[in-house]
Amino acid sequence: MLRRNRRDLSKSNAHFQKALTRLPLGVSSTFRYWGDDRTLYVHHGKGGRIWDIDDNCYVDYRLGYGPAILGYADDRVDAAAIKGMAVGGVFALSTERELTVAERIAKMVPGVDLVRFSNSGTEAVMAALRLARAYTGKDSYILIEGGYHGLFDAAMWMANMDQWDPASGVEPQKAPYSRGIPQTLKNLVHLTPMNDAQRLEDIFRKHHNDLAAMLIEPMMGNCCAISATTEFVQLARNLCDKYGVLLIIDEVKTGFRVAKGGIQSLHGVRPDICTFAKAMANGYPISAIGGREDVMRTFRPGGAAHGGTYTAHSVSLAAAEKCLEILDETLALATLAAYGEKLKAGIKHILDRRGVVHSFSGHSSMFGLFFAAVPPGNYRDWKRSDYSFYDKMARHLHDQGVICEPDSREPWFMCEAHDHSCLEDSLRAIEVAVDLTLEQLETEKKKASA
Ligand code: PMP
Repeated sequence: MLRRNRRDLSKSNAHFQKALTRLPLGVSSTFRYWGDDRTLYVHHGKGGRIWDIDDNCYVDYRLGYGPAILGYADDRVDAAAIKGMAVGGVFALSTERELTVAERIAKMVPGVDLVRFSNSGTEAVMAALRLARAYTGKDSYILIEGGYHGLFDAAMWMANMDQWDPASGVEPQKAPYSRGIPQTLKNLVHLTPMNDAQRLEDIFRKHHNDLAAMLIEPMMGNCCAISATTEFVQLARNLCDKYGVLLIIDEVKTGFRVAKGGIQSLHGVRPDICTFAKAMANGYPISAIGGREDVMRTFRPGGAAHGGTYTAHSVSLAAAEKCLEILDETLALATLAAYGEKLKAGIKHILDRRGVVHSFSGHSSMFGLFFAAVPPGNYRDWKRSDYSFYDKMARHLHDQGVICEPDSREPWFMCEAHDHSCLEDSLRAIEVAVDLTLEQLETEKKKASA
């Protein structure tokens, strides 16, 4: 891989200008807009790599935010999906394969007795929260600061760190992620920092009469892979049991990735409800809500509503059957975790040689790279930290042929298809990107002091 300060993105840039005429920001998800001259249009992906329409090749550590756990266009899953296509799509009726896939999930995940399918992570978490409210007859819920659970109004509340003074002694204000979210929902949400036992206990003590659920992603797939301690997850379990509140573990990113049984199996804590999506079907759109039998049977007429025209589509279901079979019965997860270890060791070597202080968070299958000696323990730590090295390095990495999220909160994702050549290309690119970042910082420093 050659050192190049800029890729040729002329076709992507020209397409961006055309796309703007019909698509807001030229894209179909606001997170895919990376600037007028850096927004990428993918030609295709295969294994651990993608190619843009300018024919630039990248080793990809975003993997569509996690779904391509085996690698893009996996022949085994795609063959199954093609067979699923012959079944006919959707019928507003059920097929036998729903039970086969539900059996597999229940076998793999400790907290799952029964399963309902949906199409996306957002839909699954939305249904999980409704289920918890229907079961408990209560409305409010706890979220962890910095967490992301999808694009539905109830989940889109954050602690407003931009306006918060850590020395003030008061808690940050609750703020919606976006305009268009009704302020009237605000009072139903209780936000708390990860790993703050005292605050969590206070919220339960004060608000348990109104609480339906605590929603937690114990390894935050959208916030540096910040991880809960087992003690904190256990405390959440105990408080939920004590006060009759349901524990929802959102495994949309960690499910079928950090372990066959997800993050809940690593902590040894059984949620009442859990949600899955990304790694279930190697990128085909499907998600699942799983949980305790008596809770899940609340999905019934007169209980919690759930359904959807495209739910358990025959293509996605067949892909899920094959993908989960591979994850359950082969060494795929061990392979990709071992790759993650090698990548981290290579990054560490490069950064150590240049004296760049750093640390890793999360799991070797999805890790955060952090430019401080200790990774963040909660969102407030991340917000207080200096992430400018990462922001600069990410742009250079894209130019050098490695795709990571430009935002340092998104972890790097590994897939089974990342191989030795991906590793070699990545480390070569990372070395160049780190040097370019250091040069850039040096130039900025000189300019500032001139
Ligand atoms: N929960 C978590 C933990 C997620 O990471 C995401 C997506 N990044 C979602 C829910 C929403 O999933 P989707 O984008 O499939 O709607």
